[in-house]
Amino acid sequence: MTSPGVDPSANRAEDRAEDQYDVDVLVVGGGQAALAVGYHLQRARRRGATALTFALLDAGARPGGAWTGGWESLRLFSPATISSLPGWPMPAWPGAGAPSGEHVRAYLAAYEERYALPVHRPVRALGTRATTNGFTVTTDHGVWRCRVLVSATGSTGRPFVPSYPGQAAFRGRQLHSAAYRGPDDLEDRTVLVVGGGNSGAQVAADLNRRRLGRTVWVTRRPPRFLPDHLTGGPSSSGPHGTCVRSRRASRSRTRRTWATS
Ligand SMILES: Cc1cc2nc3c(=O)[nH]c(=O)nc-3n(C[C@H](O)[C@H](O)[C@H](O)COP(=O)(O)OP(=O)(O)OC[C@H]3O[C@@H](n4cnc5c(N)ncnc54)[C@H](O)[C@@H]3O)c2cc1C
Repeated sequence: MTSPGVDPSANRAEDRAEDQYDVDVLVVGGGQAALAVGYHLQRARRRGATALTFALLDAGARPGGAWTGGWESLRLFSPATISSLPGWPMPAWPGAGAPSGEHVRAYLAAYEERYALPVHRPVRALGTRATTNGFTVTTDHGVWRCRVLVSATGSTGRPFVPSYPGQAAFRGRQLHSAAYRGPDDLEDRTVLVVGGGNSGAQVAADLNRRRLGRTVWVTRRPPRFLPDHLTGGPSSSGPHGTCVRSRRASRSRTRRTWATS
């Protein structure tokens, strides 16, 4: 395969690999950020505004990005009307409350198809190296060369786990919300949920609603709740605020503790 982006002096193992591909723009990721980039590239091509070739590489086995993981009751915190990617609005959610994870996954899958986005999956980028005219990206399915590299890999794959004093001595189980799948194996345990964002709020509500054990939720600042409806329509978070839609569920049996920061 020929490429304007190849460094002719390079002779590393990845350059000798059988499967080598060349594109102008390579997007690593297949979540909503990657799809939005793909949409604009595709649109520009269809309008004749560019002839740039491009591809998206996604490590995920199926469409949806971060929404392919998570827990069963995971929901958007914003309504469908303001959760759209460019070009095509997210279809209205027929149920009560905010759209389900399944609704989001179905939308993202349909979005890829609608715009015929060239998503390759599962393909995981393993390493990147700058060349004279761009980049060489080594993956578990061949080597890709490109002039422009867009990283849209999200944060779910590498969640931030803060350290706490005494953490190593703690005998209980510790997990990040990215690894939380539901309350089944935590049935009668006391669970401390740390963090006042949407993940913390949804996990606390999920635990509280679906098991017998005690749930304690701690946040650095008092969580900011919005009513489910504002001015006749569904509410969502403001630019600096956090919206928790399952307020009623989190109230009943969960003891909410607010630690000062
Ligand atoms: C409880 C909760 C509720 C939320 N509600 C909302 C909401 O209402 N509205 C909203 O806008 N956002 C919401 N979010 C946030 C939203 O889910 C994220 O902002 C969004 O998924 C980020 O998209 P992304 O494309 O950047 O990353 P992701 O969706 O994480 O996608 C990253 C993709 O990159 C792939 N990838 C990673 N590493 C590699 C690699 N090395 N090679 C190839 N591929 C790779 C992954 O497989 C994945 O498919 C919510 C999040 C949570 C936790």
